[in-house]
Amino acid sequence: KLYNQVQDLKGSIRVYCRVRPFLPGQPNSVSTVHRLDEGSITINTPAKYAKDGRKSFTFNKVFGPSATQEEIFSDTQPLIRSALDGYNVCIFAYGQTGSGKTHTMTGPRELTQESVGVNYRALSDLFLISEQRKDTISYEISVQMLEIYNEQVRDLLATDGLNKRYPFGKNSQNGLNVPEASLVPVSSTSEVIGLMNIGQKNRAVGATAMNDRSSRSHSCLTVHVQGRELASGTTLRGCMHLVDLAGSERVDKSEVVGDRLKEAQHINKSLSALGDVISSLSQKNSHVPYRNSKLTQLLQDSLGGQAKTLMFVHISPEPDAVGETLSTLKFAERVS
Ligand code: ADP
Ligand code: MG
Repeated sequence: KLYNQVQDLKGSIRVYCRVRPFLPGQPNSVSTVHRLDEGSITINTPAKYAKDGRKSFTFNKVFGPSATQEEIFSDTQPLIRSALDGYNVCIFAYGQTGSGKTHTMTGPRELTQESVGVNYRALSDLFLISEQRKDTISYEISVQMLEIYNEQVRDLLATDGLNKRYPFGKNSQNGLNVPEASLVPVSSTSEVIGLMNIGQKNRAVGATAMNDRSSRSHSCLTVHVQGRELASGTTLRGCMHLVDLAGSERVDKSEVVGDRLKEAQHINKSLSALGDVISSLSQKNSHVPYRNSKLTQLLQDSLGGQAKTLMFVHISPEPDAVGETLSTLKFAERVS
């Protein structure tokens, strides 16, 4: 308890590392994870990365391959309360393609009560707590679902004009960053699941079998909360961004050309802009470079200030992924 409170005082950015298990049907191999405990992880590395063949990293928490979805979510509850109290919250999933980002945020393809991810759990808590508070505060909850692909923002809940590009424009009335994108009022988790399914389908538009776009775009489910205190009439506004980031893998520039190269450059740029923003916030720099990417512009109000940020950083256990694993962990260490 005390440890958690001290951590809360330390800063508003928490970084959790999650190691994916080996997948069924994969050839047996030895995990790159040499050892892990509650707050640190040691990776076996080829000699070119470290003389003694090991590298260690520390985080707020480390989850091993057998961690359950429930365990992953367990520390997230205070953030849900914050959003209902009128604060802004960001929850990110970072990692190379195939490391388990979508598993953490959404869950596996076949969803069960045990396997649903952070998004579902966060929303069901949100509805639960707002229900518990209904005698003192009346809440209105609505969601937006956006995709950022090649530095363009798309509305995943649009029923028409799927490829419309959205400008940013702060709407002073409702505080939305992308006021033109669909904003759908919701009152139950099942409604949100329905919307998430529509969003997923829309996200697949434009992707071909060979060209899985979901790994090369950021998707952001934003939950807007408006509350009115019944006694005083005071209103509050909070929001929670649930972000499944594009795959962080470095693309070999000598091997890709054209669209693929352009995508890779956009992803690099936006992920490093995100890293720059978070690390300058954690160093309490006076200048925070929000304007360097659409992603950081979109999330500007929810990064820094009173906002709370949680990043789940994912790694794959396979030895041939060790280069990406190390760069993922270095990124994570830089922002924590
Ligand atoms: P990403 O979104 O980072 O590309 P996915 O979430 O799609 O990766 O994960 C890749 C595969 O690994 C999927 O089949 C997913 O269900 C599986 N997977 C990922 N994390 C876990 C986990 N913690 N436990 C079991 N399976 C997982
Ligand atoms: Mg994914």
